[in-house]
Amino acid sequence: MLPRAADTFGKIVVTALIACLALPLKATEVMQLWVTVDWEGLSLEEDNLQAMRRFREKFPQIPLLHLINPAYFIQPGVNRAQIGSHIRSTFLPHDTVGLHVHAMRSLVEYCGVPFQTAPSIAEAKDDCAVTSCGYSVSLEYAYSQLELTQLVACSSELLVKNGFQPPRHFRAGAWQFGPKLQAALEANRFSWDSSYIDANLLTTRWHKDSTMVRLLKQLHPHSTPIEQPFALSVGLMEYPNNAALADYTSAKQLVQLFEQLLTTQKPVMVLGFHQETAADHLVNLERAIPHMEKLARQKNVRIEWMH
Ligand SMILES: [Zn+2]
Repeated sequence: MLPRAADTFGKIVVTALIACLALPLKATEVMQLWVTVDWEGLSLEEDNLQAMRRFREKFPQIPLLHLINPAYFIQPGVNRAQIGSHIRSTFLPHDTVGLHVHAMRSLVEYCGVPFQTAPSIAEAKDDCAVTSCGYSVSLEYAYSQLELTQLVACSSELLVKNGFQPPRHFRAGAWQFGPKLQAALEANRFSWDSSYIDANLLTTRWHKDSTMVRLLKQLHPHSTPIEQPFALSVGLMEYPNNAALADYTSAKQLVQLFEQLLTTQKPVMVLGFHQETAADHLVNLERAIPHMEKLARQKNVRIEWMH
């Protein structure tokens, strides 16, 4: 009797397993959204900081991942403590700080790396009388792997010197990320990068024949708005900036991008804005988020805000 009972039990288990496998895959039940802030290292104006504080009051449940260019701290004559407190005035306790690097001359020279002026994503000649000099120079195309490793190490240290945790999250200025910068991040034990982007998302503001779009198509030829995270190497994950930043994407477009991810069952969306233009463009996120939350509810999907 016993063997037969076991047989019957075994058959039931196998039948149940087959039935489970035959069911259609369930729709994504959780969408993971990362809201990132690119701090360009250019300016800290009160109207932009105020726009961020208002956003925090309106959406206190949403953590922000601040990707900060430490160039603010080395501008001539600045009070570093004051710069730090301006930045932190926009924070909530569940936020995370990562690194954002634009190769400004001030930062590059502070880090002991020979400054390069080209290739640049800007069409106009750089004005090196101002602090933004070097802002548009491509990290990946202008600097060697060794120089990038040094620049990333020194920029991380500058954040730590000013009271932030050692950064593990990164986004390249103008998304100028390729194999050399990847190696530099690995050497500095970064675990999360968000520099891949579909250049077509940027053609709302950049001409399709611009250097910016051309270089990004070379660097990330396969990126799309539904591209999902993948491992660049054992310790480093890529989280493509698949919804770009609010300067480029209207509220309507953000909702459409979110809907496309929902429909195609792609659970990760990385969106964001620039601190330096928050007063103008953060409103796109503010308008889009309630619609995105509504769409998620309709589809019985939970939004998880990541940091
Ligand atoms: Zn930037």
